[in-house]
Amino acid sequence: MKYYSTNKNTPEVSLKEAVVKGLAADNGLFMPERIGKFEPEFFETIDQLSFQEIAFEVALRFFGEDVEHEHLKEIVYDTLQFDCPVVKVTDKIYSLELFHGPTLAFKDVGARFMARLLNYFLEKKEQLVNVLVATSGDTGSAVANGFLGVEGIHVHVLYPKGKVSKIQEAQFTTLGQNITALEVEGTFDDCQHLVKTAFLDKELNEKVILTSANSINVARFLPQAFYYFNAYARLKESGVLEGKELVVSVPSGNFGNLTAGLIAAEMGLPVKQFIAANNANDVVFEYLETGKYNPRPSVETIANAMDVGAPSNFARILDLYDHSHQLISEKIKGFRYSDETIRKVLLEVYHETSYLCDPHGACGYQSLVEYLGGDQLGVFLETAHPAKFTETVEDVIGKGKVELPDKLAAFMKGEKQSIKLNKHYEDFRNYLLE
Ligand SMILES: *Cc1c(COP(=O)(O)O)cnc(C)c1O
Repeated sequence: MKYYSTNKNTPEVSLKEAVVKGLAADNGLFMPERIGKFEPEFFETIDQLSFQEIAFEVALRFFGEDVEHEHLKEIVYDTLQFDCPVVKVTDKIYSLELFHGPTLAFKDVGARFMARLLNYFLEKKEQLVNVLVATSGDTGSAVANGFLGVEGIHVHVLYPKGKVSKIQEAQFTTLGQNITALEVEGTFDDCQHLVKTAFLDKELNEKVILTSANSINVARFLPQAFYYFNAYARLKESGVLEGKELVVSVPSGNFGNLTAGLIAAEMGLPVKQFIAANNANDVVFEYLETGKYNPRPSVETIANAMDVGAPSNFARILDLYDHSHQLISEKIKGFRYSDETIRKVLLEVYHETSYLCDPHGACGYQSLVEYLGGDQLGVFLETAHPAKFTETVEDVIGKGKVELPDKLAAFMKGEKQSIKLNKHYEDFRNYLLE
């Protein structure tokens, strides 16, 4: 299958090229030329399949032409070594918990899949591939853990010294093996600038193979469709979908997760309505309301993984629906929440149902409370474990109430290893050449 650029100013490329390059030559985002559909019958018996079996069926429709099926199956099964369960919160609202992976956030699924697919494509190569990733916290940990131990690939995580939480830092500085953490004397923007400069450095790129594991990569983005199908299957299995329409709410920042859901629906998944739940960073909300798209600098909120002022995957949403504002505003309903509301909702849900949301999930939950009609059932994506935001969450529900899961505690016990770098490009360049 070919992949085209959303900017349509460059020739289509193979899956391998799309995965290795990440971004198209005209700075557009890659999209699959076709979206494989399921027959309606598939959904009548989908509840008899396991998560891995469902994910493999979905993966076949994206990658089946380009990856040997046995290999693809291995990649899918190896990626999904943890569950994404659907948990009841109220009679009408369920939480799709995407935090059971190694770093307790949904990005684990895409990062693990991409690492394995990249490894498949590079298998016969003799030269080491360097993955560069700049992080303000969560992306670095998902990518580092996703690629941990994958042969032929070395991951370099650049992060701003003193500006990520201790838990986040432990998740990518204690791993060793093929993961190196670079502690940069500067801000997140400085880190990102170093990475971008390296990609544009022609001479450097002749000497070393560099690639990115950015969330715009098709190999990170498309596999996120897996858990939407599984959520449907598990709800059907439990009988609660009987006579009900399904509404899915996605806490959104760069809109990759939501776009994967929209693609799942294009493949036939019976979702009546998608909701984009935002924090105060509301450019897409505004677009849905007015038809005007005005990207702007992000503002800081307590749901900080959604602090995005120019969502990269918005280009994919426009492309998917031929830039039709009418169609897009039908397909996606927008909700936005202030920090004050997020805090209030977190506390209310906790008191009324004893379910503890993280600040991102709380936005999804509240949008369902406001949107759902009589014969509808809602699922919100719980995108991270509340313990990843302990400070904020305990500030709301009380000190000492958020339990640190064993997985996170284990990271905290590891020994921190990092290489210190200043923010000057020459030093980063020399490091890469060593
Ligand atoms: C990355 C992230 C988001 C935003 O997801 P997008 O795909 O960028 O919209 C939401 N919540 C958490 C916890 C995240 O880490």
